[in-house]
Amino acid sequence: MKYDLAIIGAGILGMAHAYHAAQAGQKVIVLEKDTIPQGSSIQNFGQIVPSGLGSNWFEFGQKSVEIYQKIQEKYDLTVRQNGTVYIASNHDEEQLANELYQYYTNIGYPAELLSRRECFFKYPMINAQYSKAGLYFPTELSVEPNQLIYRLIRYYKDQLKGEIQTSTTALACNSKADHVEISTSKNQIIKAKKVLICCGYTFNILYPNLLANSGLVVCKLQMLQTIPQKFIKMSGNILTGLSIRRYEAFAEMPSYQKMSTPWRYSELQKWGIHILFKQALDGSIIIGDSHEYATVADSHNLGFQINETINDLIIAEARRISDISQLKIARKWYGTYSQHPSDIFINDPTPNIRICTGIGGKGMTSSLGFALQHLTTWL
Ligand SMILES: Cc1cc2nc3c(=O)[nH]c(=O)nc-3n(C[C@H](O)[C@H](O)[C@H](O)COP(=O)(O)OP(=O)(O)OC[C@H]3O[C@@H](n4cnc5c(N)ncnc54)[C@H](O)[C@@H]3O)c2cc1C
Repeated sequence: MKYDLAIIGAGILGMAHAYHAAQAGQKVIVLEKDTIPQGSSIQNFGQIVPSGLGSNWFEFGQKSVEIYQKIQEKYDLTVRQNGTVYIASNHDEEQLANELYQYYTNIGYPAELLSRRECFFKYPMINAQYSKAGLYFPTELSVEPNQLIYRLIRYYKDQLKGEIQTSTTALACNSKADHVEISTSKNQIIKAKKVLICCGYTFNILYPNLLANSGLVVCKLQMLQTIPQKFIKMSGNILTGLSIRRYEAFAEMPSYQKMSTPWRYSELQKWGIHILFKQALDGSIIIGDSHEYATVADSHNLGFQINETINDLIIAEARRISDISQLKIARKWYGTYSQHPSDIFINDPTPNIRICTGIGGKGMTSSLGFALQHLTTWL
């Protein structure tokens, strides 16, 4: 057999599995339908933020940070260790920040509480009236999403001698007794002992009926990016009050249920808006985002347009938080990811074919750590 493992989809989830399998000496091939991958793994923020994950996924995030750094020492993946801050804007958010600080300190995960004054000096672009306190995680990372996956593919090919075929759609998988035959859009039959399908939010090619009835949902997120800024320095991942109200880690804290919601948040929360900032390597600042959901069957209802009402709400709230939002916007886009109620969707249509998708909004943060553990139990 030519390949031990064929992976369908060269997003972060597929490439994380390809990296670990090739590293373990398996003969691996990745098939990617696009000429260069363009899915969620390119459309995102590039924030590697284990601190926001629920406790059941936190270790995957922590492990991913370790692996990103290990690769970065040998090969530039654009990984920067510049930390994450959550800026609390009122008493309730500050209370949750304090509780999460206590939780992480107890388990030995580096965390610092920042006073309003410290927030001001460390993040001068955040309006002093907005920030009441900050919760800072110094070990967390950011990456350039428009470069990371391409560099990871190059590392996998050049250093680990892994194979990849782009512009190649896997059209069908036929399971035999001891292998799988994959038919591709290039009229090939590729044989591998096992196949892993990491198809992101592409549901209409392989196993469409199974995926349509899987409980998977599709999420559409709107994003904005300013023109490059020479004189503004915003280090790391900056998350704000609505993120504290949204992220799983905070939702597990004792005071979460008692939180009151200021009236101004209701319209923002209706669109799943929370405000995050991240400065890219060219100096531009990425601002987001919103969340609209649909089932697989209804995903077309999310539409192909940018909803300017949502962007106006994002900009108005970003303006309340920071002066950055006065800057000229260079780009607007929406991204998409797939998500499953049980954190990730894993299903085996046959014993040697596995579907693994629906990692949701945590894929950049946790895929490398998750894939390591997943492969040890599956391969
Ligand atoms: C706007 C936005 C912001 C985000 N911000 C963050 C963040 O800051 N931090 C974080 O941790 N996560 C973030 N996420 C989530 C993260 O991007 C996703 O969890 C992750 O990228 C999902 O990776 P994936 O490999 O499952 O999917 P994808 O990246 O979509 O990859 C799937 C790949 O499979 C290929 N494919 C599908 N079917 C076939 C087929 N039949 N044959 C061949 N190829 C096929 C597709 O072409 C695609 O390249 C964000 C997501 C979005 C959209």
